Amino acid sequence: MHVVGRLAPTPSGHLHLGNALAFGAAWLSARSADGRLLLRIEDLDQGRARDPIARAQRDDLQWLGLQWDEEVPPQSTRTYTLEGIPTYRCGCSRAERLAGRCRCRETQGTEGAWRFKTPPGEVTFTDRTHGPRVETPTEDPNLRRPDGGAAYPLAVVLDDLRDGVTEVVRGGDLLGATATQVALYQCLGRRTPTWLHGPLLLGEDGKKLSKSHGSTELRALRARGWEPGRVWELLLPLLGLRGPELDSGAFDPERVARGTFVVDGEGRSVTPHTASRGL
Ligand SMILES: [Zn+2]
Repeated sequence: MHVVGRLAPTPSGHLHLGNALAFGAAWLSARSADGRLLLRIEDLDQGRARDPIARAQRDDLQWLGLQWDEEVPPQSTRTYTLEGIPTYRCGCSRAERLAGRCRCRETQGTEGAWRFKTPPGEVTFTDRTHGPRVETPTEDPNLRRPDGGAAYPLAVVLDDLRDGVTEVVRGGDLLGATATQVALYQCLGRRTPTWLHGPLLLGEDGKKLSKSHGSTELRALRARGWEPGRVWELLLPLLGLRGPELDSGAFDPERVARGTFVVDGEGRSVTPHTASRGL
C-alpha cells in the first residue's frame, strides 16, 4: 500500500515548537516510507481570519524543511454529510452533559447539535508508538453544529477518507480521541488509517503549548536568530533521532518518546514532565 500522510495545521495561531514536533513526526513517517505528504488547512472554525495565518504557517513549514507534495482544499471549502453515521440531536450544555442530565441519546430530540451515537463496546486499534490499545469510547462528539456546519470530529474523518490518507501522525493529546474516531470509521464500513501519536510538548506552566506561549512560536524563534537546525537539535531526540538534520532514513516509530515533555520559554531544553500521566 502506498503511504499517504498529511500535515493538517489549524490556522488559529502561529506554529510553535509543539506543532513542529508533530509535523516533523508526520513528515519523517511519510518520507521514511517513500510516501506522499498532503497539506490540509483545517479551518472550519476560523472564518476569514484564517488566510494570513495559514500563509504564515506554510512559510514556517517550508522554513523547517517540511515540504509537502500537494495542498488539498481547506476544510472551509468542503461539504460534509452525516450519511451512514448514527446521530442524535442534543442541545444540552456541557455542564448538563457532565452532570449526566442529558437524555437526548434516547429521546430523539429535534434541536441542537448532531452528536455521534457512538456504538457501545470496545474498539481496538494499534498505535505505531504506543502499541495495541483496547478502549471503550465514552464520548458522543459533536459532528455538526446547531447551525448545520460540520464540526471537526466529522470533518477530519471524512477528509482523511476522501484524501486517501493512509497514516495519521499527530500529537499525543489526540490519543484519547482515537477510539471514538475508530468507531466512526467502523460505522462507515471503512478501514482506518494507521495511527502514530507522538510526544506532547508543554510549556513551563504545564499546559499544552498554545498562543499564550508566544516565545515558543517559530516566528519568535526566527526573530531571535534561530535556524531550522536548532529546532531539530532540540526536538529530534524526542522522535528517536539526532539533529540538526531531518533524516527520514533512520526514523523508527518504536523509538519515538511517549508521554509529555516541558520546553522552557527560551527553547534551551526539553525535559520530561514529572507530573506526566503516562500517555
Ligand atoms: Zn443532550
